[in-house]
Amino acid sequence: MSSLKYHFLKLNRLILFLALTATILTFIISFYSNYEVQKAQLISQRINVNQAYAHKLADTTEVFLKLSRQQLAYTANGLGTKMHDQTFLTREANRLKYQTDSFNSVVISNAVGVTQAASPETLGLVGRQLTSVGSRQALNEKKALISKPYISTIDNLLVFISTPIFSPDHDYLGFLGGTIYLKKPNILREILGEHFYHNGSYIYVVDNDKKILYHPEPERIGTIVENNTGLDEIIAKKEGGLSLRNSRGIDMLAGYSTIPSTGWTVVTQSPLASSLLPLTGIMETVILKTLPMTLGVFVFIWLFARAISHPLMQLADKAKVLDSPNVSEEIESINSWYVESSSLKKAILSGVKLLHTQIGQLKLDADTDPLTGAKNRRALQYRLEALVVQGTKFSLLSVDIDYFKKVNDTFGHHAGDEVLKQQVAVMNRFSRAQDMVARTGGEEFVLLLTETSQDDAFVVAERLREAVSNETFEEVGHITVSIGIGAWLNDAKPLKKVLLSVDEALYAAKANGRNCCVMGK
Ligand code: GH3
Ligand code: MG
Ligand code: MG
Repeated sequence: MSSLKYHFLKLNRLILFLALTATILTFIISFYSNYEVQKAQLISQRINVNQAYAHKLADTTEVFLKLSRQQLAYTANGLGTKMHDQTFLTREANRLKYQTDSFNSVVISNAVGVTQAASPETLGLVGRQLTSVGSRQALNEKKALISKPYISTIDNLLVFISTPIFSPDHDYLGFLGGTIYLKKPNILREILGEHFYHNGSYIYVVDNDKKILYHPEPERIGTIVENNTGLDEIIAKKEGGLSLRNSRGIDMLAGYSTIPSTGWTVVTQSPLASSLLPLTGIMETVILKTLPMTLGVFVFIWLFARAISHPLMQLADKAKVLDSPNVSEEIESINSWYVESSSLKKAILSGVKLLHTQIGQLKLDADTDPLTGAKNRRALQYRLEALVVQGTKFSLLSVDIDYFKKVNDTFGHHAGDEVLKQQVAVMNRFSRAQDMVARTGGEEFVLLLTETSQDDAFVVAERLREAVSNETFEEVGHITVSIGIGAWLNDAKPLKKVLLSVDEALYAAKANGRNCCVMGK
């Protein structure tokens, strides 16, 4: 059996460790999953809000563009017969420009791109050939258009919204156009507004080429968005929400919606970090709410596990002292409340019982003569030494059966054995509780009498001798004994000498003709 290597591995410590780790792990797992769920919820909420907002802005812009185009179309309709009337054209241009505020400028061009009227007049365009991208597109396509953003002849980044002018006979006469200067105060900026910029959120508008049409930082308007991880998806899907990293490397939660008539996309973005700010508070609440429960769980696991281990620890303690006298009762009193502990207790109890019976038997075997049941020489020797140590006086009767050889020879060994047993029975009648009968040799016995003087011992010896001679032994009939008597009177006489003098007395009794008692010197 290998001995235990780690002595600190005690059941109660293991249980405390188990309870602690189980509780802490449960707490961490529940905290982590809670954190993840709350985070996902905040993210999806923020994306949804941004998407709804982008959708609303896209709708509003769409409505504005539709109205602008309707205004242009209606006005253009009235120009079909007035293209020669300079004053009328100028008044219409001014009316469009100043009545609605929809456009930063308004131009009316003839069929070959020469400006007929313009507002504001300070632009000085009248009579000049229009060469800008928007004008050429309008002349070429001869239909209602919203241009891509481009830089105008007078260096403005603009979007050009135009509608063709036809004569009542459907001849193409030119176009009426309004511009929106993207980098100057304009109607788009009013729609998209300077609002919604709390906690780092902002709105921007891009066209299909990722060119920025609107952005809270004016210097970015007209530039192409680069390094934005979500823009491809945004342009492809037209409507939705996603997490992305913007061109400055900041994680953002975006919602987006495309304006149908232009294909421009409104993107509403909030920084992930600020969107997750409420998480700290939420998680603090989660901790405060789960902590008492966690502690409760810990106490429960700990106490319950202790209750499980308690009988085991008690059994283990008692198992160390199985040879102690009251161990059975102590083990019996252990509350082994569940099946395994109860089986263990039963097993230990029956082990203890067996052990004690065997120890008792061995003790008996060790100091008893198996034939007669009298104590043996060794037991007598121990007892005598103990009495000397205690200083208790005693007398000794050394009893030897006379002519025992003859008994054996005449009646057989078995009959001899029976005589020896009966002889011990007779001697036992003379032995008090504090005395001892021992078989010290084949047919030799000793009667130890404590607290007895040599004279009193002599009287006992005589009575014993008489009793033996009067006893009828089965098969054999009558026998006699010779007895030598000695005593230790708590004096300086060594035990050896006492025994020697008793032997000599017995020898003298034999020599004296047997069946008699002789006092030792
Ligand atoms: P004495 O009167 O001188 O004592 O003569 P004795 O024959 O009794 O003495 P001895 O020493 O000559 O003989 C002792 C006999 O006791 C010899 C032996 O056979 C017998 N004996 C010793 N142990 C046992 C025993 O356990 N059972 C039986 N049946 N006989 C035994
Ligand atoms: Mg003998
Ligand atoms: Mg004899």
